[in-house]
Amino acid sequence: MKLSFHGAAHNVTGSCHLLEVGEHRILVDCGLFQGSRELNEDNAIPFGFDERSIDFVLLTHAHLDHCGRLPLLVKRGFRGEIIATQATFELARLVILDSAKLQEEESRSRDAHARKQNQVAPNPLYTVIDAMDCIGRFGRAASYGHAIDICPGVRATFYNAGHILGSSSILIEGEDKNGVRRVLFSGDIGSATPHILRPPEVPVSADAVVMETTYGDRLHRPFDESVKQFYQVVNSALSGGGNIVIPTFALERAQEILFFLRQGVDENRLPPSLQVYLDSPMAISATQIFERHLDDFTPAVREMLAKGQDPFSIPGLHLTRDKAESIAINNSRGGAIIMAGSGMCTGGRIRHHLVHNLPRSEASIVFVGYAANGTLARQIIDGAKEVQIFGERVAVRAEIHTINGFSAHADQNELLAWQERIANKRIIALVHGEPSSMEAFAARLTGRVVMPKLNDEINLD
Ligand code: ZN
Repeated sequence: MKLSFHGAAHNVTGSCHLLEVGEHRILVDCGLFQGSRELNEDNAIPFGFDERSIDFVLLTHAHLDHCGRLPLLVKRGFRGEIIATQATFELARLVILDSAKLQEEESRSRDAHARKQNQVAPNPLYTVIDAMDCIGRFGRAASYGHAIDICPGVRATFYNAGHILGSSSILIEGEDKNGVRRVLFSGDIGSATPHILRPPEVPVSADAVVMETTYGDRLHRPFDESVKQFYQVVNSALSGGGNIVIPTFALERAQEILFFLRQGVDENRLPPSLQVYLDSPMAISATQIFERHLDDFTPAVREMLAKGQDPFSIPGLHLTRDKAESIAINNSRGGAIIMAGSGMCTGGRIRHHLVHNLPRSEASIVFVGYAANGTLARQIIDGAKEVQIFGERVAVRAEIHTINGFSAHADQNELLAWQERIANKRIIALVHGEPSSMEAFAARLTGRVVMPKLNDEINLD
């Protein structure tokens, strides 16, 4: 049995791992490289395997860095079945279509630019038609804890990873002429302390573990403190008269922030007159999908839903799908909480809100999620006095806050505890982490640990 790595190898995006069991070739995730321009261009390079030879893709969750190259895989000849949980299918549909639309838009603007110089811009990575074709390959839906017979000699069991709705760790049990091997892919692992989703689960044993190390080198602040800090930041920004801009991942983080804004109002820790703009068509659609999957939430959230209360809504919430409504938010000079994507500010409507609010000293920008190296979010968090947005220089005068306790990822201690629960492992392959994070985490582990580079192979026999 052979394992190879085709993304998220020494970085945090582009997850894509290949397991070969006898004749069968199973891919786990097929994510987009995100971040700097170089990473965007990395998406067009060959996968490192023959796309037509892949029989199945098992998808851990719907984040773009885990599913964003699926349409490209199909475009290049993949004709197999994609398997994931029902919630992941529903969210991935949104994410993949949105990504295809962005690819087409970017390609059109590159094309216009190239024409001026009598050049031809490259085609989009994939189009909306390619994305539809890919969605047509969505097959069996997995339920947590129930093994699926993928093909003769290969079974897979999905375990709740507690990271975003529908997210999973996947155990693949494969049998070939050398015997049976159990390989566990962590996917992205959520915090052990539930915020709104149930906490992660793990199988009791595995021979090999492929695990994420996003926060392998650091600890989060206790969650209650982060919520307290969030309320303090909101209250002090509102009293200062400025807007509060929150770059938000459309899946999970947006709903989590809505949940805590509502809780803050309910508990009189935030003013009832709060004006909140969720300026993200994808987050609005995702919130509706959340409301269809009650079983995955903590008892507190389920109880609210059972009572007919919407845990993701507050009286002053404005859902803006229209572009015109989004642009109208720019007229607000103070008192508005503006949530928009993308979380790392690499694209989407958030960049317009940053152009308007970054130069205002009374405004606050509140980061509540991971910001990879090379992204606009990272530059602002690192204290840049000026940034480039849409080719223009934008001064940074707003107050910048980072609240890391909202993370949808486990911290170092939680990652350590997660892997300790798995018996009999003979090798741990660390992926999905910046090199410094992986190394710090590896130093805390015992046994055989590897940190594969792109296209590296490991023989599991
Ligand atoms: Zn993720």
